[in-house]
Amino acid sequence: MKAAVVTKNHKVTIEDRKLRELKPGEALVKTEFCGVCHTDLHVKNADFGDATGVVLGHEGIGKVIQCAKDVKSLEVGDRVSIAWMYEACGLCEYCTTGCETLCRNIKNAGYTVDGAMAEEVIVKADYAVKVPEGLDPAAASSITCAGVTSYKAIKVSEVKPGEWLGIFGIGGLGNLAVQYAKNVIGAKVIAFDISDEKLNFAKDLGADEIINTNSNDFMDKVNKVTNNKGVDATIITAVAKTPFDQAVDTVKAGAKIVAVGLPVEKMNLDIPRLVLDGVQVVGSLVGTRQDLREAFAFAAEQKVIPKVKLKSIEDINNIFEDMENGKINGRCVIKF
Ligand SMILES: [Zn+2]
Ligand SMILES: [Zn+2]
Repeated sequence: MKAAVVTKNHKVTIEDRKLRELKPGEALVKTEFCGVCHTDLHVKNADFGDATGVVLGHEGIGKVIQCAKDVKSLEVGDRVSIAWMYEACGLCEYCTTGCETLCRNIKNAGYTVDGAMAEEVIVKADYAVKVPEGLDPAAASSITCAGVTSYKAIKVSEVKPGEWLGIFGIGGLGNLAVQYAKNVIGAKVIAFDISDEKLNFAKDLGADEIINTNSNDFMDKVNKVTNNKGVDATIITAVAKTPFDQAVDTVKAGAKIVAVGLPVEKMNLDIPRLVLDGVQVVGSLVGTRQDLREAFAFAAEQKVIPKVKLKSIEDINNIFEDMENGKINGRCVIKF
């Protein structure tokens, strides 16, 4: 079967791979779709360490075609996700307190184990979340990482209905964050980006205000919109350092700043601002299986509609090139 494999020189080649036999607790999934995430780009570029030889992909959706004898949670024919959280230990302090994405013994699809950019993939049955009836599988692929990650970050931000949420970065995550914030939470949204094209996209999706952070008076605009108070919370899905620093400037006292994007740099944090204004900076990492079930359910209700562009697996290096150049609106999804 065809699989997209990371090479030593930070490219991806399409290889013919054979899968091993299933072990207890595992299922075999025939992949239908797999989205291409910015994290795949980090993995390919060895930003988190060398990943030569690994099959990429953690926005996979497919149908179960075989289960190990002991599997109870899935049946042949079920449509399931192959997500970044491939498997956690299920026993530790994180796993047993609703923070399973922080498990120290976690395995990640398309990084520490082979992922879903392949015609077939082995999953841990109990960690593959079922896709609800009525949700288009291509759309579901985008919810599997981008959707659940933005949904979870909004939950972590504790923004309430009618409050202002700042969303920095209107890429693959940000556009879904706008929809979850508006259509699920009922928050008011300011979208921040450096691209007018992406900002107009956010406006089309229902953002109440759009602000280009390249403009010198961008903070004046924030103050005007929020009556000099600042936004009630912000999430940063951008993949550069500057928006992280800008986000700190935009929030009111006591607000949460939720970091989601992964630029491999340090952010500046003004200590008096942190202490005197009691702002909270917190990271949010994908979502639990329960978060994914909820994120799927809202998408199945059409409250969140991912914008996907279907591609073939052979396009993968071109997709990464476009991603590095910020040329993708919404999500590129590989169709198998
Ligand atoms: Zn991802
Ligand atoms: Zn654990």
